Amino acid sequence: MTYPFSAVVGQDLLKRSLLLNAVCPALGGVLIAGDRGTAKTTTARAFAALLPPIHVVRGCPFRCDPAAVWRECPHCGGREAVEVETIPAPFVELPLGATEDRVAGSLEIERSLREGRPVFQPGLLATAHRAVLYIDEVNLLADHLVDLLLDAAVSGTNTVEREAITLRHPARFILIGSMNPDEGELRPQLADRFGLRVNVTTSTDPRERAEATRRRLAYDADPVLFQGQWAREDRALTAQITVARDVFPSTLLTEGQTLQIAETCCEEHVEGLRADLALSRASRAMAAVAERTQVMADDLRAAAELVLPQRRRPKPAPPAPSPPSDWFSGPSPDHSGTTEESVTPPGPVLSLPKLFAPTEAKQDSPDRGRRNPLPDQPNGRSVRTVRHAASSSVALDATLRAAAQRGVGQVRPEDLRYKLREERQRSLVLFVVDASGSMGARRRMEAVKGVALGLLADAGRQRDEVAVIAVRGSRAECLLSPTAKVPVAEHAFARLPTGGRTPLAHGLTLAAELTAERLAAVLLVVVSDGKANVPLPGTDGDPWEQSLVACSRLTRSNLRAIVIDAESSGGGKAEELAIALGCACHPLETLSAATIRQAGAVP
Ligand SMILES: [Zn+2]
Repeated sequence: MTYPFSAVVGQDLLKRSLLLNAVCPALGGVLIAGDRGTAKTTTARAFAALLPPIHVVRGCPFRCDPAAVWRECPHCGGREAVEVETIPAPFVELPLGATEDRVAGSLEIERSLREGRPVFQPGLLATAHRAVLYIDEVNLLADHLVDLLLDAAVSGTNTVEREAITLRHPARFILIGSMNPDEGELRPQLADRFGLRVNVTTSTDPRERAEATRRRLAYDADPVLFQGQWAREDRALTAQITVARDVFPSTLLTEGQTLQIAETCCEEHVEGLRADLALSRASRAMAAVAERTQVMADDLRAAAELVLPQRRRPKPAPPAPSPPSDWFSGPSPDHSGTTEESVTPPGPVLSLPKLFAPTEAKQDSPDRGRRNPLPDQPNGRSVRTVRHAASSSVALDATLRAAAQRGVGQVRPEDLRYKLREERQRSLVLFVVDASGSMGARRRMEAVKGVALGLLADAGRQRDEVAVIAVRGSRAECLLSPTAKVPVAEHAFARLPTGGRTPLAHGLTLAAELTAERLAAVLLVVVSDGKANVPLPGTDGDPWEQSLVACSRLTRSNLRAIVIDAESSGGGKAEELAIALGCACHPLETLSAATIRQAGAVP
């Protein structure tokens, strides 16, 4: 039982985006961004149920189209006649914990061993062929899996090249990803590869919300009855998709419109041609939905609204307006303007070597030495298998596959494969910044912001995280929780609180708490003059003594520190702080990537 698509209240932009992909799957799917409880999954499921049924070859694991059987299909290839079956358009959900084998397919061990030749076990990408492929929380999916999916989505083919298997099979699907931006953005390169993006929000219209609740309750009480009540609307939409698919190939953009699209993309500083292509396709699909072959100005405007926002510089996107009109009766021209905000450019992009690079042969400071997180860190997810013993755990499946590809029922030592695990925790650079006082505080905060964003711009590739604790007022505040995402940091730095007294003890205590459980390496950067003058919240102890106690909590084997003296004259409390932390003290002018690079590098 699926909730009827027509019964979803509001969410007009989302519905329109999905419809356009139904008409033109080459659009590259939809990225849905929004809070929990905005019916993202319900709408995606409902959308799949709306698609016209498909004809398939019965029993084919690659879901071949009887009208155009994949010639190399291990199931259908070479058969004289195939049996045809009509099935509802499939909805395939990709679980977050899926392995690369599960997604791309792998060797079928048992049959390979028995038959003495490699037999391919199709993965989710084969199951997703001609289906809707849905990934909830796509921003949390491992990057290499997202790459794999988007490659397939763009090329319509899944390429498997590993061990004994070299195979390309068709994998054309409508990709729908959903995410909660509060939990981190997708890398811009990946977000760019989704054709369209829609930001969904819960309606702020009480009547609309009440209607959504009423319908949901009615559905839960009697799904069959409820579906029956909406069947006519859903059937009409299905028919509309069928017609629009027929019209789409004949739709045309004029020379002028093609140029207009290019000009718009130039004005928006969009890199690459993906946006231009998506705009062309989306506006043609808009026309096809309206059963027109000629694209109108409104089609272009409405398409731009779905294509461009994600491709501007990353920033928290404004909620998309939802026109009250029927979403399929055509776009209303009055909501094409999107608000532009100025974006703080990130600090200078620094070429920081991987902060916690693997130790070379040097072992002269065994107790304080930075350690690269172990490759077989037990809570890491196994992401790849290798032939050499990089870790203690044998990858049983890969080993059997290696044996199976020789086609004999016996495992030999040379078949052994080992698991290489991904580091779950990233290295962290944690700033504790004195934001108290007025004059210098603002300057210190701006400096830290610049360096932090610079580190992140680099860390986007390096996979290190940055966090900031601001020390001011009656208690310290975690201004930026550990993140590797530039947009999250930019959002946090939109506000730089300064002024008041100096709760340094609380700032250092927060730092100790934040890092206590971290297995991966931490670099603590304390920017302060060391003049603590506020005791821990709820105590009346000596602020300086409390700061020293916090420092002792911060001296651990996986944590390094550096103190940046915020007082230009130097020689004061900051140096004592550095001694307590067992680290060096530098003047404020040296707060830069270079200082941090040195402090973080392996001695
Ligand atoms: Zn087949």
